Amino acid sequence: MEFCPNCRAMLFPKDGKLECKCGYSKDLSNDNKYKVSKDIEAKDNVKMLGEDIEVGPTVNETCPECGHDKATYKLIQTRSADEAPTRIFKCSKCKHTWRAYD
Ligand SMILES: [Zn+2]
Ligand SMILES: [Zn+2]
Repeated sequence: MEFCPNCRAMLFPKDGKLECKCGYSKDLSNDNKYKVSKDIEAKDNVKMLGEDIEVGPTVNETCPECGHDKATYKLIQTRSADEAPTRIFKCSKCKHTWRAYD
């Protein structure tokens, strides 16, 4: 809990700031702990969707790059719960990766 340095009243949160009825407001955007952890999360997600598909079952899927008919795949669950997981294929010949949507 935080108090106003001017009048010692209790501050209340509004629009990402802490405000006091005397007009004082404290911007919370300098407190970027939350933002940093979001960035790390985003990076992990990019890595998952990138070249890093080494394990996974082999399926008969034609590579759009070289026409090879075997690829490994992974299911990637997207953030929103009402979306189906994305399938990421990796050609076992040329290592090209691509996404498939149902
Ligand atoms: Zn105040
Ligand atoms: Zn290929």
